[in-house]
Amino acid sequence: MCYQPAFLQIPYSMKQEKTSFLPTENSLVDMFSRSISYLRLSLTDRCNLRCLYCVTENEANGSLTKLQHDELLTYEELLRVVRVAVAMGITKVRLTGGEPLVRRGVLDFISHLGAIEGLDDIRITTNGLLLEQFGPKLHAAGVNKVNISLDSLRPDRVAAITGADCFNQVWRGIETMLALGCAPVKLNMVVMRHINDDEIVAFARLSQQLPLQVRFIEFMPIGVSSRWNSDTYIDTDEIMARIRALGELIPLHAGRNDGPAQVFRLGSDAIGSLGFISPISHHFCSRCNRLRLTSSGALRSCLLHDDEVDLRAVIRERSTDAAIAAALLTAIRNKPRGHHLKELIRQTGGDCHGRMSRIGG
Ligand code: SAM
Repeated sequence: MCYQPAFLQIPYSMKQEKTSFLPTENSLVDMFSRSISYLRLSLTDRCNLRCLYCVTENEANGSLTKLQHDELLTYEELLRVVRVAVAMGITKVRLTGGEPLVRRGVLDFISHLGAIEGLDDIRITTNGLLLEQFGPKLHAAGVNKVNISLDSLRPDRVAAITGADCFNQVWRGIETMLALGCAPVKLNMVVMRHINDDEIVAFARLSQQLPLQVRFIEFMPIGVSSRWNSDTYIDTDEIMARIRALGELIPLHAGRNDGPAQVFRLGSDAIGSLGFISPISHHFCSRCNRLRLTSSGALRSCLLHDDEVDLRAVIRERSTDAAIAAALLTAIRNKPRGHHLKELIRQTGGDCHGRMSRIGG
């Protein structure tokens, strides 16, 4: 249906910042007629935090296994993949990790990324620790859409969740991006019962005072450490019900920027907005336009399916753009109609799937 590997033979070199080749139509359409236009790149599995939903207690105390440097795709390899993907129809790239800002040379990489013709939307998901330092350079390199993960507004609790006393530093990062005029600045809160759910209201109020999109994400049973269980999980309906006690939730038209979130304003005077992301209770698979490249160089067409295409091997063994294009098409052709997380949770009690820091969320 959509397998057309022969058409791409894009000459590549690091110096060639722009490719003159662009297809006339998006060739990245999957078996369920979804157009794939969004690529998430996990730049590294390393992170400067040890969040309780990402690592086990043992790992937090020092025994974390990390990828070796040669297991990561080099920046040159990543740029090559993105050039091919953009020529095929990808228009939006998100950098994630691990913590993307800890990979050495990331700003230089981003400026090369920004020079790729046809790629007009580069975003980043970060824990915010390095934003005060890197924010202005990120902004100058064209990254002005930032998602910042923050699961609590209480410094002691942030320390308990992340393993680092970092709330003030993250908050300065948020202020830096707001002062630079970044829009939107999104705050990601993973909502966990008994851990931070008593702050739902405080987070919602933030959106009334600041030009932020505060996003409530359903806690997913992913990762080796996952503290997930049916008790810690809270669905979006319950989160919304608690917020409605504060005022009216006025639906906003979810724009191109909002991805899978349902977006609302809390009362007519709110400066910011609220987003609700419900991968479990109201999954958005029928609208999914994403492809992921893990930090070990595997293409993954669904966060919650472990089928992967080993792109690193393709690049290093065959080394042609046509082979990269074929691998992208294979991953997309195999993209499942949807995930079966609810069923899996029933079967396993929530003991699911690989490492979030490698996949990148
Ligand atoms: N280090 C970056 C950060 O902290 O934003 C990027 C990587 S992190 C894995 C990406 C996102 O995944 C974060 O917003 C994080 O809160 C979210 N996340 C991680 N584990 C999760 C889980 N089990 N359920 C829901 N979201 C999760």
